[in-house]
Amino acid sequence: MSRKKTLLAIILGLAVAVAVPLSLRLLPHQPHTHVIDLTAKKYGYEPGRIVVKKGDTVVLRPTSMDVTHGFLLDGYDLEAVIKQQGLAYLKYTWTDDEGQLHTDWDKVREIEFIADRSGKFTFRCNQTCGNLHPFMTGELIVQHNTPYHLAVSLSVWLTLSLLLWFGTGSVSHPPGSRRINLLEAIPLLKRAVKARSFQFLVILPNLVFFYLFVLSALWGSPVGNRNIAIIFVWILWWALLNTVFLPLGGRIWCLICPLPAPGEWLARKTITAVRYLEKPVRGLHHHFLGLNKDWPTRLGNIWLQNALFLVLISFGIILLTRPVATAILFLVILAATLGLSLVFRGRAFCLYLCPVGGFLSTYSMAACTELRAVDPEVCKEHKEKCCLVGGEDGWGCPWGQYLGKMDRNNYCGLCTECIKSCPKDNVGIFLRPFGSDQKLKGFDEVFNVLIMLMAALIFTITMLGPWSGIKQAANVTESRQLLPFFIYLGAVMSLAIVIFPSIFLLASKAAQRLAGGKVSWREVAYRAAYIFIPVGIFVWIAFSLPQVMINYSYIFSVISDPLGLGWDLFGTANYPFKPFYPETIPAIQGVLVLVGLFFGLTRGFSSFSDLLSGRSERVRAMIVPSLLALVVVNVFLRLYMG
Ligand code: SF4
Ligand code: SF4
Repeated sequence: MSRKKTLLAIILGLAVAVAVPLSLRLLPHQPHTHVIDLTAKKYGYEPGRIVVKKGDTVVLRPTSMDVTHGFLLDGYDLEAVIKQQGLAYLKYTWTDDEGQLHTDWDKVREIEFIADRSGKFTFRCNQTCGNLHPFMTGELIVQHNTPYHLAVSLSVWLTLSLLLWFGTGSVSHPPGSRRINLLEAIPLLKRAVKARSFQFLVILPNLVFFYLFVLSALWGSPVGNRNIAIIFVWILWWALLNTVFLPLGGRIWCLICPLPAPGEWLARKTITAVRYLEKPVRGLHHHFLGLNKDWPTRLGNIWLQNALFLVLISFGIILLTRPVATAILFLVILAATLGLSLVFRGRAFCLYLCPVGGFLSTYSMAACTELRAVDPEVCKEHKEKCCLVGGEDGWGCPWGQYLGKMDRNNYCGLCTECIKSCPKDNVGIFLRPFGSDQKLKGFDEVFNVLIMLMAALIFTITMLGPWSGIKQAANVTESRQLLPFFIYLGAVMSLAIVIFPSIFLLASKAAQRLAGGKVSWREVAYRAAYIFIPVGIFVWIAFSLPQVMINYSYIFSVISDPLGLGWDLFGTANYPFKPFYPETIPAIQGVLVLVGLFFGLTRGFSSFSDLLSGRSERVRAMIVPSLLALVVVNVFLRLYMG
């Protein structure tokens, strides 16, 4: 099909994709009244999902089976406190003769409202009721759920349109060729990163906060949403990492991460200076405190990081809600980095063990920045290779990278040492298009991408879903029930390392066959997996951003009372819980997931360009992985919007 006809077909397809969900709204409906007995119990509601049609009357008869719970319905300005034995207090507002607004509570047995807004709306507990309180939610679906239907139909349209568009030859080149060297464009930045004290100065504030958080996690409030460590680490930092640091700066977090810094300083026996040896010791112009060993070659991959990340997600809900578990995790990591720095040279922990480092590595491939040699030819000519082995002005790369050959972000911790050590001034930090590094190089990396995607799915189901049974199963330290926990663990592991990887590998095999079968299946799998990096990044943003929109008020509370000791340092300790436009969350999540699908498919397609020379082979190779991505995206759309 010519490019013009393809474009016409795509535009017509868009019209159909929009018209079909909108036309569903026109179907006639006779309003009904739904009387629902709503029980609230740690940590969920029964029923957890209420489905009605627009215009229906909903009568809830709430009761609590244990402690006092809240009921705050997004988008409906409906708030109640649910007590035991069918008693509830409904919030209402009224205006006095002077026009002043007052709030009061009405003792009620029923909460009645008309479902006059269509879409998905979450109702959540707003009375701190226990460890998993922030995740106690239910869902009201008011049909026709047009935003959801629209997102589903757009996802199908997008996938089919892109496959058609790929066939026209309009998307073929890796986008990484357009780059701006920030060190040239911003001389002040260059002066700053060249300073020996640069990394220390950017780590220092984090280090101070880190110890404060550890103290607070150990001795502060045991309630997660009242503890600064939980709120700042698992809500704010996690959201910032996924929405800002990673997509924009790749591994920039590793530049400022406080965890490995003390070990590195100890091994170097200095904080900012360079200890340069004229005569190299086993390839490096430095000698470190301790055994100075090299990491075993056969463990030089990210399999261990994958395994440790799986352990982390298995206990995710406990880490997110128990300050003491977070403190223990931090202290274990600190001890590991200190111990390893005295045994191995360089950042062994960061490269091979840090569970966060694993996904930072693969996801940083898509980041909008990269640190690279300005001219790799200059590196070839430069015999000393100071960036790798060390120079008088900078340490040899602690991450074992040689700039002349570094063509991906994966294993560069952006420590800026090579910028200082390179006597040829041949290192730049470049701004580049999203999704520029496109070569996964091993199944350890492929599995990392797949595990990360499944982790987003598991977290979404466990923490954001209305299924209290799953939350209870994961919450083993409180429920003390081992069998449900082991079943949960089994499901997590099978999904992340057996079920989804098997489906993916079968899809890759089919892609290889459709592409003509001449190239290796392994190489096809490496490229098909790339699709799930942008998809993964955007579903993680869709998971993390709403956490801040919902829970931001806790940030103000814990700033005033960091140790949960009843302080009110800035007058914000009792900042009211008021989610920020929560009714917009499903739409925001839907858009993010669709953006991820777009980048996943377009970048995935161009990643095939070095493997398959023919355009039609590339398109055929993309069909099955694209359909798999479409299914995955629709699972997330269902969870976020449906
Ligand atoms: S790899 Fe992990 S420990 Fe190392 S700097 Fe990055 S986040 Fe920190
Ligand atoms: S390549 Fe340069 S910035 Fe990256 S880790 Fe190595 S020395 Fe640090």
